[in-house]
Amino acid sequence: MPIIVQKFGGTSVADSQKILAAARKAIRAQSQGNQVVMVVSAMGKNTDALIDLARQISEEPPAREMDMLLATGEQVSVALVAMAIHSLGHQAISLTGGQMGIMTDSTHTKARIRSISAERIHQALDAGNIVIAAGFQGIDASNNITTLGRGGSDTTAVALAAALHADTCEIYTDVDGVYTTDPRMIPEARRVAQISYDEMLELATAGAGVMHNRSIEFAKKFAVPVHVRSSFSDNPGTMIVVDPESPGAAVCGAALVKNEAQVTVLGVPDRPGAALSVFSKVAEKHIALDMIVQNEGAEGRADISFTVFRDDLPATLRAVAAAVQELGAEGYTCDESVSKLSVVGLGMATQPGVAGAMFRALAQKGVNIQMISTSQIKISVLVSRESALEALRAVHQAFQLQAAPPTAGRSGPSNQPVACSDGGKLIARLERMETLVIEAIELDESQSRVTFVGLPDTPGLAAQTFDDLAKAGIVVDMIVQSISRQNRANISVTVAQRDLERTLRAATELAKRLGSPSPTHCPEVAKLSVYGVGMRSHTGVAARMFQSLAHQGINVELIGTSEVCVTVVVDRAHGQKAQTALKQEFADAMV
Ligand code: ADP
Ligand code: ASP
Ligand code: MG
Repeated sequence: MPIIVQKFGGTSVADSQKILAAARKAIRAQSQGNQVVMVVSAMGKNTDALIDLARQISEEPPAREMDMLLATGEQVSVALVAMAIHSLGHQAISLTGGQMGIMTDSTHTKARIRSISAERIHQALDAGNIVIAAGFQGIDASNNITTLGRGGSDTTAVALAAALHADTCEIYTDVDGVYTTDPRMIPEARRVAQISYDEMLELATAGAGVMHNRSIEFAKKFAVPVHVRSSFSDNPGTMIVVDPESPGAAVCGAALVKNEAQVTVLGVPDRPGAALSVFSKVAEKHIALDMIVQNEGAEGRADISFTVFRDDLPATLRAVAAAVQELGAEGYTCDESVSKLSVVGLGMATQPGVAGAMFRALAQKGVNIQMISTSQIKISVLVSRESALEALRAVHQAFQLQAAPPTAGRSGPSNQPVACSDGGKLIARLERMETLVIEAIELDESQSRVTFVGLPDTPGLAAQTFDDLAKAGIVVDMIVQSISRQNRANISVTVAQRDLERTLRAATELAKRLGSPSPTHCPEVAKLSVYGVGMRSHTGVAARMFQSLAHQGINVELIGTSEVCVTVVVDRAHGQKAQTALKQEFADAMV
């Protein structure tokens, strides 16, 4: 019999009437001939209330006790949902994470799933029950209760769907699907009928709170079709599957992480392995770094900037202080009042000019860009928090995201499973369900690097730079921008080697016009791209890359991070050696 997993978020079980409505949806699916597993979140804002209570008692409550506390929210709701199903004349059983065998590691409040023993759930289903599973929780090897991180019920749902070989995983929530951006922020945002795993993964990490990013890692890894839809209507919703909605669209969505913080480590000795010490110290604390930028510094030293979620800032600064001391770096600075704005789309990998269009839209609104970081399918910029909403609106409009995409893909969502059997095979091969998976390590030896140095840090600068390049017909690949010391920006780009001369000419002209120093360049670089699932949420990946390259004496010139790919640029002379080193480093994670 087909199995359906249905997940209900907090607002969807916020009171008794909503609980009964959710119960009816599950009963309907069962009466249509499916076995049904419901995954349920804590009621309404219960998790927030519990966190608030804990903070009233202690500023930094022990993480283990936090998990004991937070897991109770889901325990309340699963029991009530089971009662609701009984009251409607059907059979149901509620199970906690531990009872249904969701084993995790011991990283309290951010635990990762290691395995799920589906046996008990199958038995309960075969006995005619609707199974009500507590979202967001598991147990570790010592039977301690753990939780998966805020929003983690989505991850429970997709992981269960994978472990049970479910036909589909339905995510019922308070919006009727995935929109081009958060419809609460931009009311004209459009619901998309379909979105690819990679795009959703990037959007979720870039701030689209509708799905927990790790749930999409599971969905992609185990080929689970995810259907996001409204709890309060039968509208068609959004399918998250392999293919994008419209292959012709450069951008499928935009997102904002309002509360980011930028950290700059100053005067790091510019030698292989120096950056590593900063990254590994932060990674040890299970904090995900983003937008990593390394600046050529003066006198053999470099400045390294990166961003983290603002909530992670205190722990990050403790790690950074330790690294500064160990390295003999000059010190560090931080800015807590920044937001990260990203646009995402599979189409931008093949369409030129997307970055330029984004920068132009921001320039027209006078929004200053503080950092830029790109990956194949995402462009992120750091802006002041004050300007963030306006920046999001400008970009959403510039890419016409409110309008139907150029060539619509499938007209609506379909419940067609995608290659579930492959997912099944992978499960058998993977000891740990949430382990890092590396799909490919590619070497591109066709590019050059050009760095625009010491440009004045004013709104519109990036737009002008990329306008100039576009006018010269140059397609830019990686873009990394950071503010260097005297409020001057450096922008590094990689371009095809055949475009090097023209890029340098455009860069030199711009430098003359602005009165800034001449551009620097490296004619022969190698770009190494490591593709996989969980590249950023597994916090040690960038550190491991730097480590293995440092061991070979290879310096990293540029880095770009995303959920699906980490890219580094090194001197071409080291390209092959770097690829071999990375293949060795990640041999255990290659599939
Ligand atoms: P649940 O409690 O059901 O898990 P969440 O609050 O976690 O619900 O997620 C739903 C919310 O996500 C929506 O109310 C919406 O404001 C927000 N959201 C952010 N980005 C998007 C987006 N791109 N599409 C749809 N909703 C989004
Ligand atoms: N109740 C948890 C939270 O609010 C998990 C979830 O709802 O997904 O974060
Ligand atoms: Mg949620």
